[in-house]
Amino acid sequence: MSTRRKFLQTSFLGSLGLFTGKKLMAQSDTHYPTIKNEPIVLSTWDFGKEANAEAWTILGKGGRALDAVEAGVKIPEADSNNQSVGYGGLPDRDGRVTLDACIMDENYNCGSVMCLEHIKHPISVARLVMEKTPHVILAGDGALQFALANGFQKENLLTPESEKAWKEWLKTSKYEPIINIENKLHKPAPGGDMPGGANNHDTIGMIAMDASGNCSGACTTSGMAFKLHGRVGDSPVIGAGLYVDNEIGAATATGVGEEVVRIVGSHLVVELMRQGHAPEAACKKAVERIISRNPSKAKTLQIGFIALNKKGQYGGYALQKGFTYAVRTGKEEKLVQAKSVY
Ligand code: ASP
Repeated sequence: MSTRRKFLQTSFLGSLGLFTGKKLMAQSDTHYPTIKNEPIVLSTWDFGKEANAEAWTILGKGGRALDAVEAGVKIPEADSNNQSVGYGGLPDRDGRVTLDACIMDENYNCGSVMCLEHIKHPISVARLVMEKTPHVILAGDGALQFALANGFQKENLLTPESEKAWKEWLKTSKYEPIINIENKLHKPAPGGDMPGGANNHDTIGMIAMDASGNCSGACTTSGMAFKLHGRVGDSPVIGAGLYVDNEIGAATATGVGEEVVRIVGSHLVVELMRQGHAPEAACKKAVERIISRNPSKAKTLQIGFIALNKKGQYGGYALQKGFTYAVRTGKEEKLVQAKSVY
């Protein structure tokens, strides 16, 4: 999380003429790669940059998008400084780190784990659910037992920093204000927004297309900090936090998951692309759907979508300013400041 606000130090932007003089940020737009099936990967937030770099070690060599997205999101999952994904994630109100993740390939195969504890890489467990079981979702203890039976190690995922933030939070135990803190995501207080110096959420959603023209996606998070024990957000819900339809493309979401689930957001974005909307326009329409449901509530929270179509066009859109996503192709590596409604 601490790297979120650091603007990307990239030489690509200068060479692309996108250097504004003040911000090393690209403008959000739809892009048109010239090479058919040029591999591409995009991920939510600034930390998507490192995740994309890892995914690129596979995509850049002609590897499969599914392998790339799994490898990519494992970077923030293992990063103890990232307090919204995997190891080091902020716990629920009982002090338990519970993780949600899902993965989807080019053939509508998908796997998901919900409320999984003690396993550093929930995305790999989700992939095993997809590949080794007749099921799509495993939750809670069952997911843990499955992971342990398949060789995953049981670990303590609660870092001292996250435990400290939780203990700070316990002093007030207020969940409501945390949602409002979303508005400040682009203006962090020193050390973070949360009591205890931590930000309260953010997911990595990653979508990619490989050299064969196949799309896959992965989404993984520790969810909303200090949530009720057992709460599951949008991130491991196929269609909400992530959706891939290899005829059309892929989409993924970040932000307050309850609102994304209500509109089955990522599936909506993919279906809007099927109707002919460009990725950015599809993401915008999904965001507007959230607003139309409850305009005053929408003003108080952050949600962002990113999407990719089969032509390699991509885009993103958010409710609030401050949502970034990272893009990597054979030609460029950059962070994009997504457009927003507010
Ligand atoms: N979507 C995640 C959840 O609701 C949180 C986030 O992306 O900020 O669990």
